[in-house]
Amino acid sequence: MKFLSTRGQTQPLGFSDAVATGLAPDGGLFLPEKLPDLSGDLARFEKMSYPELCFEFLRVFATDIPPDELRAIVNASYTRFSDPAIAPLRRLGPKLHVLELFHGPTLAFKDFALQLLGNLYERQCRVRAESINVLGATSGDTGAAAIHGLLGKPRTAIFILYPDGRVSPLQERQMTCTGAANVFALAVDGTFDDAQNALKDVFGDQAFRTKHRLSAVNSINLARILAQCIYYLYAWLRLPAAERGNVEFVVPTGNFGNVLAGWMLQKMGVPIGGFKVATNQNDILYRMFTTGEYRVGAVHPSLAPSMDIQVASNFERFIYYSVGRDPAKVREVMQTFKTTGAYRFSNFDRDTFTASHCTDAEIPGIIQRVYREHRYVVDPHTACGFKELDPSRTSVVLSTASPAKFPDTIKAAIGLEPTHPSLEALKSLPIVKHRIKADPAAIQAFIASHA
Ligand SMILES: *Cc1c(COP(=O)(O)O)cnc(C)c1O
Repeated sequence: MKFLSTRGQTQPLGFSDAVATGLAPDGGLFLPEKLPDLSGDLARFEKMSYPELCFEFLRVFATDIPPDELRAIVNASYTRFSDPAIAPLRRLGPKLHVLELFHGPTLAFKDFALQLLGNLYERQCRVRAESINVLGATSGDTGAAAIHGLLGKPRTAIFILYPDGRVSPLQERQMTCTGAANVFALAVDGTFDDAQNALKDVFGDQAFRTKHRLSAVNSINLARILAQCIYYLYAWLRLPAAERGNVEFVVPTGNFGNVLAGWMLQKMGVPIGGFKVATNQNDILYRMFTTGEYRVGAVHPSLAPSMDIQVASNFERFIYYSVGRDPAKVREVMQTFKTTGAYRFSNFDRDTFTASHCTDAEIPGIIQRVYREHRYVVDPHTACGFKELDPSRTSVVLSTASPAKFPDTIKAAIGLEPTHPSLEALKSLPIVKHRIKADPAAIQAFIASHA
């Protein structure tokens, strides 16, 4: 299968090349040339384990990887999950379920995609007999998940920039206590935006980028979206048949990556009732789905920091489908958005989406309520999903992180401090980090001497 850019000015690429490229050269995002129809396969998928289902799903897209190799990659990608179900679906009430996506090595849902992506990168390096240097900026979860996806892999090095003193202590430990020789955690003197801007300049230097074979790790990689489709399918198959068609998946989101994956699966013929886009106080997506206007806002740091975004980087993929898969129209929308800061949509899949938003003032109360009603502890991101549920239909709330990653917020809400053995173990390991200025030249010099 080939993959096209949403902006239509990039040669279609095969799966491995589209994954290795990340952002398309024309500035667009890669999508499958055609969405497959899985409706005839659902009965066959019914009893499969998570890795089996993952293989069956990905083989439709990754047609350039021999099936045996793909199977080995998939199997390796889910061995570090601590729950045998990988993505367990827990019932909290007659019509209420949570899909726990936090049993991977860094205890957040990003492990589903980044464990796989690490193994895909490793294969690409082996097949091409090349090395790569992966670079990213993070406000917390992405950096940790990316590092644990590439930990100790031959021919790869990973450099993650994060704002010094502005990620949680546990997130910092997940990035800096790995002991792996190919991991470089760079503590930037500045904010997340400073780190990201410096990184943009590093990537903007084409000669440096080519010389050091730099690859970006961010939320727009095609492999991340496809890997995230699979847990929706897995969860849907575990619901009683009578509940499947009307189910609403409730998705805490900022960049629209997670909810987009579910929606694409629905377009592939899996009859899912709908999706709730659950934002925190950074509510560009909430406003979009309630008013039709997509308008940039300022970022307000929140108790659910992994959803603190200004614009939703994956939304362009949804725009592509909403404008009838017309790349010229996508370019026009993105241009209007860039110059005016807003775009009004007249036509999008309104029937499928509902939306909610949740301020910081509300999050502790929701954590309390869920604990009181269900004896279940949710993290501050997942709490946004519990803001308002439709009692008339089956809801599956995606739980995107373990509460143990956010002990302070949980303790303040319910008086209990959640813990997790993998986080406790980190507390006795030495922190190895490199302090650096938010300066492209300093970052390039570091990479040049450590790549
Ligand atoms: C990244 C992240 C999110 C938001 O994911 P999107 O890609 O914006 O949909 C939500 N919760 C947690 C815990 C995260 O790490």
